Amino acid sequence: MELVHSGKVRDVYEDGGDLILVASDRVSVYDVILPTPIPDKGKVLTRLSLWWFERLADIVPNHVISATDVPHEFAGRAVRVRKLRMVQVECIARGYLAGLGLREYRAGGAVSGVALPPGLTEGSQLPAPVFTPTSKAAVGEHDEFITYDDVVAQEGAEIAERLRETTLAVYRRGAELARERGVIIADTKLEFGWDADGGLVLGDEVLTPDSSRFWPLDEWEPGRPQRSFDKQYVRDWAAGTGWDKTYPAPEIPADVVAATRARYIEAYERITGESW
Ligand code: ATP
Ligand code: MG
Repeated sequence: MELVHSGKVRDVYEDGGDLILVASDRVSVYDVILPTPIPDKGKVLTRLSLWWFERLADIVPNHVISATDVPHEFAGRAVRVRKLRMVQVECIARGYLAGLGLREYRAGGAVSGVALPPGLTEGSQLPAPVFTPTSKAAVGEHDEFITYDDVVAQEGAEIAERLRETTLAVYRRGAELARERGVIIADTKLEFGWDADGGLVLGDEVLTPDSSRFWPLDEWEPGRPQRSFDKQYVRDWAAGTGWDKTYPAPEIPADVVAATRARYIEAYERITGESW
């Protein structure tokens, strides 16, 4: 197998005509990989993605070929997938205001060119989920918000519309399912690609704590930062150290590693209803 890409979290190998996506235990914040791994994180991301892919398959086909036909040293954290030509847009859906969306809203009352009503605050639920795409950043650069019109200009009106509708449909299904289990999916990022037959396929990972903001429903309270099951915890710890968000990042202390691992596992257990 040939290593064709080493991302912030995953290593991608080519095997025959397929790809093997291997999720590591690496954690990145502000696009910087931290030096300390989070045990089991790669397995959580892999198992949760597979769980979701199955439950979204009637909305959009996915890239999964097999979760077992992978080299044994990667067992549990690797998936054999169809190689896609990736759409050069990160398809984000937001149902609540947080992170970059909140910052944009505060600056101009809109997110990705979508005007929002006044009076919203940190953690507010939006009147309806919105599609807030970003460009796919080159290595070392941050993704940037683009408007729906930018996606139309880049991909054409018909594809832009499909990306938006499919992204929102996946978000709505995911958010509804998670809510029944006491988890708010505040926002999520999807990646689509084209298969050999020209079909639109959901790739990458889906509705994981790395690609989404997960909040416990019973603690949700707009007007403040929300407790989260995702890597926000590591982000907050990292920001609190005074680190300047460039390489090298500080080592994560053992208690923060343990608390982060527990959050990933709690997200998995709550959403799937299975115990880790
Ligand atoms: P970067 O590549 O900029 O470092 P990243 O850190 O998000 O981004 P990872 O998520 O670690 O990268 O690696 C996964 C890579 O594989 C991404 O570039 C993603 O777009 C790509 N990818 C996911 N699924 C497929 C697929 N089925 N076919 C081709 N590429 C895919
Ligand atoms: Mg990625």
